[in-house]
Amino acid sequence: MDLKNVLNNFKLKSTPCRAEVLTLLFNNEHALSHSDIEQEVDHSFDRVTVYRTLKTFLDKGLIHKVLDDEGVTKYALCSECSKEEHNHEHVHFKCEQCGHTQCLDEIQIPDISLPAGFKAHQKNLLIQGICNQCN
Ligand SMILES: [Zn+2]
Ligand SMILES: [Zn+2]
Ligand SMILES: [Zn+2]
Repeated sequence: MDLKNVLNNFKLKSTPCRAEVLTLLFNNEHALSHSDIEQEVDHSFDRVTVYRTLKTFLDKGLIHKVLDDEGVTKYALCSECSKEEHNHEHVHFKCEQCGHTQCLDEIQIPDISLPAGFKAHQKNLLIQGICNQCN
């Protein structure tokens, strides 16, 4: 993977923090929380720098939020998003054994019809169980 190219495609300058966070997300199949990321990257980056990097990646369509049980927000790479087309209708899976949450990109969230007067902007579906690595 060419980091510079990826950042370039999203019209982002390569900074040490962006490069490290991106590498980390690429190297992990499961979603990472802010504190997971903070622990893994170079400690010379402060909280705010990591936070801003994640915010930029979110805005640009490079990563998306994964809502976990426990109320922790985790982040995972988008597979085919851009700034304009940034939506996620896939299922997330949380393993009760290893504790990892991952994207099941190919599994779509089914259509849900809401009562009159309700309008959906986002759908999240988290399935909990045992993943294929732990099974
Ligand atoms: Zn996305
Ligand atoms: Zn597992
Ligand atoms: Zn996902």
